[in-house]
Amino acid sequence: MTTRQEGQYKAVPESLAVVQALVNTQYGQGRYAHTELTSPEQLRAWLVGYGLLKEGEPVSEGDLRRVLQLREALRSLLRANVEKEVLTSPIGVLNHLASAAPLKVRFHDDGRGTLEPDIAGVDGALASLIGEVFTAMINGTWGRLKVCRYERCQKAFYDTSKNRSGVWCSMARCGSRQKARAYRHRSRVAQD
Ligand SMILES: [Zn+2]
Repeated sequence: MTTRQEGQYKAVPESLAVVQALVNTQYGQGRYAHTELTSPEQLRAWLVGYGLLKEGEPVSEGDLRRVLQLREALRSLLRANVEKEVLTSPIGVLNHLASAAPLKVRFHDDGRGTLEPDIAGVDGALASLIGEVFTAMINGTWGRLKVCRYERCQKAFYDTSKNRSGVWCSMARCGSRQKARAYRHRSRVAQD
C-alpha cells in the first residue's frame, strides 16, 4: 500500500460519512444517550440537511420507521466489522428495504459512474444510503466503518488504524470503561 493510499484513510470518506451520521443519530445509554430522529419532522430536517430529500417533500411515520429499521440493521452489520461474525438478523431487513429502493448507474462528465436512486422522496433517500453502503463494500472502505465494542456505547466510528484493528470509538473513554467493567466482573467472580 502506498503512502498516498494510506492518507486516504485518515478520515471517513464523504460518501460513508452520511451512513455514519445516520447510525449516530442514536448511541449510548442512560445519561450518555444521544437520540435524534424521534419524529417525522426531525427526520425531514435531517434528510434535507444531508441533501437526501428535497425541501417540502412529505415524511410519514412509516418513513420514520423504515429509516430507523435501516439504521439498526446497519448498526448490526457494522458490529460484524468489529466482531467478525455475520449476523443473519439484519440481512432480511436490509433486503426488504432494498427491494423498495431502486438504484440506477449514472455516468458523470469525468468518466466516473455512481449509483443513484431511481425513485423520489424518502424511498430515494433510503436507496441513496443503501447505494453508499454497497459502493463502500466494493471499494473496500466498508470494513473500516464499525460500531464501538462497548455495548453501552455502540457509536459508529471510522477505523483509521493501519491494520484495521480498532474496536472502540474512543480508547480513552469506551476502551477503559469496558476494561474496568471486565475487571470488576472478574474480581466478583473471584470472590464468589
Ligand atoms: Zn464508544
